[in-house]
Amino acid sequence: MNRLSDRIDPTASDTLRILTDLVGMPTAVPPGDNYEEIVDYLMPKFADLGFEVEKVCIPEDIFKQKMKNPELHGKRANLHAYLDVCADRTLVIYTHLDVVPVGDGWTFPPYEGTIADGKFYARGSADSKAAVAALLTALTQIRELGITPAYNLNIALTTDEEIGPYSGLCYFADIGLLSGDYFLCMDGEGDDVIIGTNGILTWRVDVFGRTYHSGSSFLGVNALEKSVAMMNGMLALKSEVEDRRSEMPSSHVVADKTGFLNVKPILNITMIESGVKENVVPGICTIRGDRRVIPEETFDTAIEEIERALANAAGAGADTRYEFTYELGYPPMYTDASHPWIGQVQTVANEVSDRKIGIAGAQGSLDVAYVIGITGQPVCCHGVGRVLESRAHAEDENVRIEDLVRYTKFLGLLLTE
Ligand SMILES: [Zn+2]
Repeated sequence: MNRLSDRIDPTASDTLRILTDLVGMPTAVPPGDNYEEIVDYLMPKFADLGFEVEKVCIPEDIFKQKMKNPELHGKRANLHAYLDVCADRTLVIYTHLDVVPVGDGWTFPPYEGTIADGKFYARGSADSKAAVAALLTALTQIRELGITPAYNLNIALTTDEEIGPYSGLCYFADIGLLSGDYFLCMDGEGDDVIIGTNGILTWRVDVFGRTYHSGSSFLGVNALEKSVAMMNGMLALKSEVEDRRSEMPSSHVVADKTGFLNVKPILNITMIESGVKENVVPGICTIRGDRRVIPEETFDTAIEEIERALANAAGAGADTRYEFTYELGYPPMYTDASHPWIGQVQTVANEVSDRKIGIAGAQGSLDVAYVIGITGQPVCCHGVGRVLESRAHAEDENVRIEDLVRYTKFLGLLLTE
């Protein structure tokens, strides 16, 4: 295994060459119209490594029905690659090929890939194309050394993670392409091994009133003013909800910065819409927000709590008329930290790293949770970048070249130990 690790050391330039090609194909979503190009680039690379490869396009009718987003166009082309080495166990390896749009404020050209101060800068470098480049290098070195991987490898490189809700990965799960014994998600940062995520639901409350001339506003019902009590009800629930803690520890990076030692549930009011003019009593006010549920909670109880809080708030004023609706997003997911797969990933991650890689849960929500809801595999996420440094989704997104090498070794050892 030292042989493999030593061989990977001088391969940074190979990985960087592939990464430069990958970031040069703008797969920003919306619109996500270059997926076929990147899949066509990757297919022969996996085929040369002995994989059975398949381009899997989401049928247009399914895509339209699940996504309902007019900003999206182009083929939803995904890559599925399978290597059967007759091992007892199969490992599913996943990350996404799409990136978020470039945005403003870049020092470096976002789609070229610039090396400066030991880092590689480009949109999608850390999130999440570096992992794809590292995977190809690790697999190449494993093959050149004639080592047989310890698992059959079931690889999914898919679309629309950054926009959701129905990513290519969700489609793979629905058509049964993700069978295997363990699941490694290469998306995310390399500061921790992530064993769980919060689930997400989005909610909306329409508060109804009656429009009137503002000079005689006492003859109408002001929906905006009525909604204040509703929001206060939500804020009271918010402090109750956010006092809870999951047993999942927070990322040490988050803990150091915020003092939150464990992942917590969240309730946010994030949007409000009402009124057409200063002198018109608004007849409707729409409030929206989201709720992040920890794995110990359920969507059902989270919804009941909100319904109760709203009913109390509406009754407390002069009987406010309102309608509460919600949409379920990705569920929470959680794999016990004592599971051997988690131990294996954490051990290898620490073997190749000079900083301590801990176990943590994530505050955010992931499409992987949708998959695990179907397949039930033990799962963890461990990626290339750094939470506080890589600037994923921001300007000057970057990855340290030393982290690229570290991650290539991590994959090399994990797949062969
Ligand atoms: Zn990502």
